[in-house]
Amino acid sequence: MDFLIATHNLKKQAELQRILEPLNIKVLTAEMAGVELTDVEETGTTFEENAFLKADSGCKESGMVCVADDSGLMVDFLDGAPGVYSARFAGEHGNDEKNIEKLLEALKNVPEEKRTAKFVSAVCCCFPDGRSFTVRGECHGVIAFEKHGNGGFGYDPVFLVGDKTFGELNAEEKDRISHRGNALRKFVEELPKYL
Ligand code: IMP
Repeated sequence: MDFLIATHNLKKQAELQRILEPLNIKVLTAEMAGVELTDVEETGTTFEENAFLKADSGCKESGMVCVADDSGLMVDFLDGAPGVYSARFAGEHGNDEKNIEKLLEALKNVPEEKRTAKFVSAVCCCFPDGRSFTVRGECHGVIAFEKHGNGGFGYDPVFLVGDKTFGELNAEEKDRISHRGNALRKFVEELPKYL
Protein backbone atom coordinates (compact mmCIF):
# COMPACT_ATOMS: atom_id res chain seq x y z
CA MET A 1 0.00 0.00 0.00
CA ASP A 2 1.28 3.50 -0.87
CA PHE A 3 1.05 6.45 1.52
CA LEU A 4 1.73 10.04 0.49
CA ILE A 5 3.71 12.23 2.90
CA ALA A 6 2.98 15.95 2.59
CA THR A 7 6.57 17.20 2.87
CA HIS A 8 9.52 17.90 0.61
CA ASN A 9 11.82 16.89 3.44
CA LEU A 10 13.46 13.58 2.42
CA LYS A 11 14.63 12.98 6.00
CA LYS A 12 11.02 12.91 7.20
CA GLN A 13 10.07 10.61 4.30
CA ALA A 14 12.90 8.20 5.17
CA GLU A 15 12.03 8.30 8.88
CA LEU A 16 8.37 7.41 8.27
CA GLN A 17 9.37 4.81 5.66
CA ARG A 18 11.59 3.06 8.23
CA ILE A 19 8.77 3.02 10.75
CA LEU A 20 6.06 1.80 8.33
CA GLU A 21 8.25 -0.78 6.54
CA PRO A 22 7.05 -3.66 8.78
CA LEU A 23 3.43 -2.83 7.86
CA ASN A 24 4.31 -3.21 4.16
CA ILE A 25 3.62 0.47 3.47
CA LYS A 26 5.58 2.52 0.96
CA VAL A 27 5.93 6.21 1.90
CA LEU A 28 6.15 8.56 -1.09
CA THR A 29 6.70 12.30 -1.36
CA ALA A 30 4.58 14.13 -3.96
CA GLU A 31 7.56 14.11 -6.31
CA MET A 32 7.97 10.32 -5.92
CA ALA A 33 4.23 9.74 -6.40
CA GLY A 34 4.12 12.04 -9.43
CA VAL A 35 1.41 14.26 -7.98
CA GLU A 36 1.37 18.01 -7.56
CA LEU A 37 0.34 19.41 -4.20
CA THR A 38 -0.67 22.97 -3.44
CA ASP A 39 1.44 24.55 -0.68
CA VAL A 40 -0.97 24.75 2.23
CA GLU A 41 -1.05 27.89 4.35
CA GLU A 42 -0.53 26.90 7.97
CA THR A 43 -3.30 29.04 9.40
CA GLY A 44 -4.09 26.79 12.40
CA THR A 45 -3.46 27.89 15.97
CA THR A 46 -2.40 24.40 17.08
CA PHE A 47 0.06 21.82 15.74
CA GLU A 48 -2.86 19.38 15.33
CA GLU A 49 -4.85 21.82 13.18
CA ASN A 50 -1.88 22.51 10.91
CA ALA A 51 -1.02 18.81 10.53
CA PHE A 52 -4.67 18.14 9.58
CA LEU A 53 -4.77 21.03 7.08
CA LYS A 54 -1.73 19.59 5.27
CA ALA A 55 -2.80 15.92 5.37
CA ASP A 56 -6.40 16.69 4.37
CA SER A 57 -5.36 18.82 1.43
CA GLY A 58 -2.79 16.25 0.25
CA CYS A 59 -5.33 13.44 0.54
CA LYS A 60 -8.01 15.31 -1.41
CA GLU A 61 -5.59 16.42 -4.14
CA SER A 62 -4.00 12.99 -4.65
CA GLY A 63 -6.72 10.52 -3.71
CA MET A 64 -4.07 8.73 -1.62
CA VAL A 65 -3.80 8.13 2.12
CA CYS A 66 -1.81 11.17 3.23
CA VAL A 67 0.34 11.79 6.32
CA ALA A 68 1.56 15.21 7.48
CA ASP A 69 3.28 16.51 10.56
CA ASP A 70 3.64 19.84 12.25
CA SER A 71 6.02 20.57 15.07
CA GLY A 72 7.61 23.30 17.09
CA LEU A 73 9.00 24.55 20.37
CA MET A 74 6.94 25.92 23.29
CA VAL A 75 8.82 27.91 25.93
CA ASP A 76 7.06 28.35 29.30
CA PHE A 77 8.60 31.75 30.10
CA LEU A 78 7.30 33.00 26.70
CA ASP A 79 3.78 31.65 27.34
CA GLY A 80 4.21 28.87 24.79
CA ALA A 81 5.93 30.91 22.05
CA PRO A 82 7.29 30.40 19.44
CA GLY A 83 4.79 27.49 19.14
CA VAL A 84 3.26 27.13 15.68
CA TYR A 85 5.47 30.02 14.57
CA SER A 86 8.72 28.19 15.44
CA ALA A 87 10.05 28.05 11.87
CA ARG A 88 9.50 31.79 11.34
CA PHE A 89 10.12 33.12 14.89
CA ALA A 90 12.69 35.67 13.72
CA GLY A 91 10.67 36.59 10.64
CA GLU A 92 12.35 34.54 7.95
CA HIS A 93 11.04 31.01 7.38
CA GLY A 94 13.51 28.36 8.46
CA ASN A 95 16.43 30.63 9.44
CA ASP A 96 17.68 28.50 12.38
CA GLU A 97 20.54 30.85 13.30
CA LYS A 98 18.31 33.90 13.61
CA ASN A 99 15.57 31.96 15.42
CA ILE A 100 18.04 30.74 18.07
CA GLU A 101 19.53 34.22 18.43
CA LYS A 102 16.07 35.70 19.02
CA LEU A 103 15.20 32.97 21.52
CA LEU A 104 18.41 33.42 23.55
CA GLU A 105 17.88 37.18 23.56
CA ALA A 106 14.28 36.76 24.78
CA LEU A 107 15.57 34.58 27.63
CA LYS A 108 18.57 36.75 28.50
CA ASN A 109 19.00 36.87 32.30
CA VAL A 110 16.20 34.33 32.81
CA PRO A 111 17.46 31.80 35.40
CA GLU A 112 17.76 28.11 34.61
CA GLU A 113 14.70 27.05 36.60
CA LYS A 114 12.52 29.35 34.49
CA ARG A 115 13.89 28.17 31.12
CA THR A 116 11.68 25.08 30.82
CA ALA A 117 10.27 24.22 27.39
CA LYS A 118 8.90 21.41 25.30
CA PHE A 119 9.06 20.27 21.70
CA VAL A 120 5.72 19.14 20.27
CA SER A 121 4.98 17.09 17.17
CA ALA A 122 1.53 16.35 15.76
CA VAL A 123 1.20 13.71 13.03
CA CYS A 124 -2.07 13.43 11.11
CA CYS A 125 -3.21 10.73 8.70
CA CYS A 126 -6.17 11.30 6.33
CA PHE A 127 -7.91 8.59 4.34
CA PRO A 128 -9.78 9.11 1.03
CA ASP A 129 -12.99 7.82 2.65
CA GLY A 130 -12.97 10.80 5.03
CA ARG A 131 -11.56 9.16 8.16
CA SER A 132 -8.55 10.70 9.89
CA PHE A 133 -6.58 10.46 13.10
CA THR A 134 -3.93 12.61 14.75
CA VAL A 135 -1.32 11.70 17.36
CA ARG A 136 0.84 14.02 19.48
CA GLY A 137 4.30 13.52 20.92
CA GLU A 138 6.13 15.79 23.35
CA CYS A 139 9.62 16.08 24.77
CA HIS A 140 10.35 18.23 27.82
CA GLY A 141 13.61 20.09 28.32
CA VAL A 142 15.31 23.36 29.22
CA ILE A 143 16.64 26.15 26.98
CA ALA A 144 20.43 26.40 27.35
CA PHE A 145 22.25 29.73 27.79
CA GLU A 146 24.28 29.12 24.63
CA LYS A 147 24.55 26.69 21.73
CA HIS A 148 26.09 23.24 22.24
CA GLY A 149 26.70 20.69 19.49
CA ASN A 150 25.94 21.00 15.81
CA GLY A 151 23.88 17.91 15.09
CA GLY A 152 20.20 18.01 14.13
CA PHE A 153 18.46 21.18 12.97
CA GLY A 154 16.29 24.05 14.19
CA TYR A 155 16.53 24.71 17.93
CA ASP A 156 18.45 21.46 18.64
CA PRO A 157 21.69 23.16 19.82
CA VAL A 158 19.87 25.02 22.62
CA PHE A 159 17.37 22.35 23.73
CA LEU A 160 18.75 20.58 26.79
CA VAL A 161 17.50 17.21 28.02
CA GLY A 162 19.53 16.30 31.08
CA ASP A 163 23.09 17.46 30.50
CA LYS A 164 23.10 17.33 26.68
CA THR A 165 21.38 19.37 23.99
CA PHE A 166 19.62 17.66 21.07
CA GLY A 167 22.49 19.06 19.00
CA GLU A 168 24.91 16.82 20.91
CA LEU A 169 22.92 13.61 20.30
CA ASN A 170 23.16 11.36 17.26
CA ALA A 171 19.98 10.66 15.26
CA GLU A 172 19.25 7.40 17.06
CA GLU A 173 19.67 8.92 20.53
CA LYS A 174 17.41 11.84 19.57
CA ASP A 175 14.71 9.57 18.02
CA ARG A 176 14.50 7.59 21.24
CA ILE A 177 13.35 10.59 23.29
CA SER A 178 12.21 13.21 20.79
CA HIS A 179 8.71 14.59 20.29
CA ARG A 180 8.69 13.27 16.71
CA GLY A 181 9.91 9.83 17.82
CA ASN A 182 7.19 9.74 20.49
CA ALA A 183 4.49 10.82 18.02
CA LEU A 184 5.57 8.27 15.42
CA ARG A 185 5.59 5.47 17.97
CA LYS A 186 1.97 6.36 18.80
CA PHE A 187 1.24 6.58 15.07
CA VAL A 188 2.28 2.95 14.40
CA GLU A 189 0.24 1.84 17.37
CA GLU A 190 -2.88 3.60 16.05
CA LEU A 191 -2.58 2.94 12.30
CA PRO A 192 -3.51 -0.78 12.21
CA LYS A 193 -6.97 0.12 13.59
CA TYR A 194 -7.62 2.02 10.34
CA LEU A 195 -6.22 -0.49 7.81
P1 IMP B 1 8.37 21.56 11.00
O1 IMP B 1 6.98 21.33 11.48
O2 IMP B 1 9.16 20.29 10.89
O3 IMP B 1 8.45 22.42 9.78
O4 IMP B 1 9.12 22.35 12.15
C1 IMP B 1 8.77 23.66 12.49
C2 IMP B 1 9.93 24.31 13.22
O5 IMP B 1 9.97 23.84 14.56
C3 IMP B 1 11.30 24.00 12.62
O6 IMP B 1 11.65 24.91 11.63
C4 IMP B 1 12.19 24.12 13.84
O7 IMP B 1 12.50 25.46 14.04
C5 IMP B 1 11.30 23.65 14.97
N1 IMP B 1 11.49 22.21 15.23
C6 IMP B 1 10.59 21.21 15.04
N2 IMP B 1 11.11 20.02 15.40
C7 IMP B 1 12.38 20.27 15.78
C8 IMP B 1 13.43 19.44 16.25
O8 IMP B 1 13.35 18.20 16.35
N3 IMP B 1 14.58 20.07 16.55
C9 IMP B 1 14.75 21.40 16.45
N4 IMP B 1 13.82 22.22 16.02
C10 IMP B 1 12.62 21.68 15.69
